Amino acid sequence: MNKLRLVVTIIVALFIVAGVCGVLGMNGMSGILERIVMFVFTLICGMVMYLIVYYWYGNDYKCPSCKKRFCLKKTGEEVAKRENISVLVETNTRNRNGDVIGSLEQYVPGERITYRINKVCKKCGKGCYSTYRRDIPKV
Ligand SMILES: [Zn+2]
Repeated sequence: MNKLRLVVTIIVALFIVAGVCGVLGMNGMSGILERIVMFVFTLICGMVMYLIVYYWYGNDYKCPSCKKRFCLKKTGEEVAKRENISVLVETNTRNRNGDVIGSLEQYVPGERITYRINKVCKKCGKGCYSTYRRDIPKV
C-alpha cells in the first residue's frame, strides 16, 4: 500500500506518545510550564493525526457522488476482466551447495485479473466501485 503514508502516521503517533509522556511527567520534566508546552504539542500532533486520517486516508473512502468520507460500505467483489499477459518473475539462481548466488528475471505466461469492488454510500445510497489488478504467473 502507501508506504509514505504509513511512515508519516507512525511518526506522528510516536510524537503523540512522547507528548503524552511529557504531560504526565514521565520523562523527568516536572515544571508546570514544560507540561503545558508538552500538552499543547500533543494537542497539535493530535490535530495533525486527525487531518492525516481524515483527508489522506479518507480520500480512499470518499463517495464520488456526495464527497462524504468514510461512508462507503463494501457490498461485494467480482472479477471484472481476465487478460493473458507476460509476468515478470524473479527466480533465484543457486550454486551446487544450494546457496543463492543471484537472481534471474524472466517473463512467464500469466494472467492479469482485474477485480472490481462494489461499494455503496451510506449517506446518499449511490453505488460506486473501485478496481485493483493482480498479475498471477501461471507456472
Ligand atoms: Zn455518497
